Amino acid sequence: MMHNFNAGPAILPEEVFNAASQAILNFNDSGLSILEIGHRTNAFEAVMAETRQLIRELMQLDNDHEVLLLHGGATTQFMQIPMNVLNENETAAYTETGTWSGKAIKEAKHFGEIAIAGSSKDKNYTYLPKQLSISPAAKYLHITTNETIAGTQWHALPYDCGVPLIADMSSDILSRQLDFNQFDLIYASAQKNLGAAGVNLVVVNQHLLGKVSRKIPTILDYRKHIEAESMLNTPPVFAIYVVLLMLRWVKNKGGIAPLEKMNMAKADLMYRTLDSLPIFQLSVAKEDRSLMNAVFTIDHKELEKEFLSVCTQHGIVGIKGHRSVGGFRISMYNALSLESVKAITDLMIDFANKKG
Ligand SMILES: *Cc1c(COP(=O)(O)O)cnc(C)c1O
Repeated sequence: MMHNFNAGPAILPEEVFNAASQAILNFNDSGLSILEIGHRTNAFEAVMAETRQLIRELMQLDNDHEVLLLHGGATTQFMQIPMNVLNENETAAYTETGTWSGKAIKEAKHFGEIAIAGSSKDKNYTYLPKQLSISPAAKYLHITTNETIAGTQWHALPYDCGVPLIADMSSDILSRQLDFNQFDLIYASAQKNLGAAGVNLVVVNQHLLGKVSRKIPTILDYRKHIEAESMLNTPPVFAIYVVLLMLRWVKNKGGIAPLEKMNMAKADLMYRTLDSLPIFQLSVAKEDRSLMNAVFTIDHKELEKEFLSVCTQHGIVGIKGHRSVGGFRISMYNALSLESVKAITDLMIDFANKKG
């Protein structure tokens, strides 16, 4: 058995792989593959409708919020958001908490003024800024709820920031219960908690839109996608089908609440183990640790190599840290079982006992 801790694209449930394979061979007993039917067929329109409905249901969205499934990954949202929401002479506030928020800031600067509302750059993004400074004139505040590379996660959300709140939830969407209606825009690329790469979830409060003076190309205009019910052009049909299978899996598990409980149990086991073994070093502030991505190092490069090789021998894959931070990163997304976390923590204890 493999234990897959990849950061993204990442583990999905076995049931999802089985149903996805079946749909490639013979979709809904139609005798056709999902890859060869038109997106405007009844069969695919039903996939799109159920996907958007399940997102609405699981996130308990109100009627102001629209659900879109778009191309281009979260990286496209870095520019699409300011293009749709921010005029050139206006300011948007961004928190600067790691690689991903850094990229969002860089792209937003093409469209307007960017003010840094809080930063943890001074300590290499190992904590989250607690005191934010946001001008009431800011068009919105952008946060990255889980910094996948730094291993930090917002546990107290800045709902009271006084301006519309926008969040990149690519690596923790549907992993915990949040008051999703408090966000004016949420986006997440699918390949961590939601499905296969190639599709992007966007949840947007329609009142945020229609307020910029620039001309927006049709394919980048959220309002056009809303009008077309996410079928403005050919959607990434297979990636959306995998998202649907994942959403059905989440619903079968009982929704977000039981998944959150399981995610807390996994992270608790992981961090308790790491904290008890001095051979492993964690630099992220305790209160800001991510339930999704645990990031740590071992003091000696040789020992890191050795630990990696022990893990490989035991079918544990995807634990190498991002090349920008080194060390290790254990990603514990929705589909990862507690059993897999148990497998690696047992190895950690064993390794520490031998080397300690
Ligand atoms: C993975 C990730 C992205 C990038 O997503 P792409 O689909 O590669 O564009 C952006 N933000 C966060 C927080 C991520 O984890």
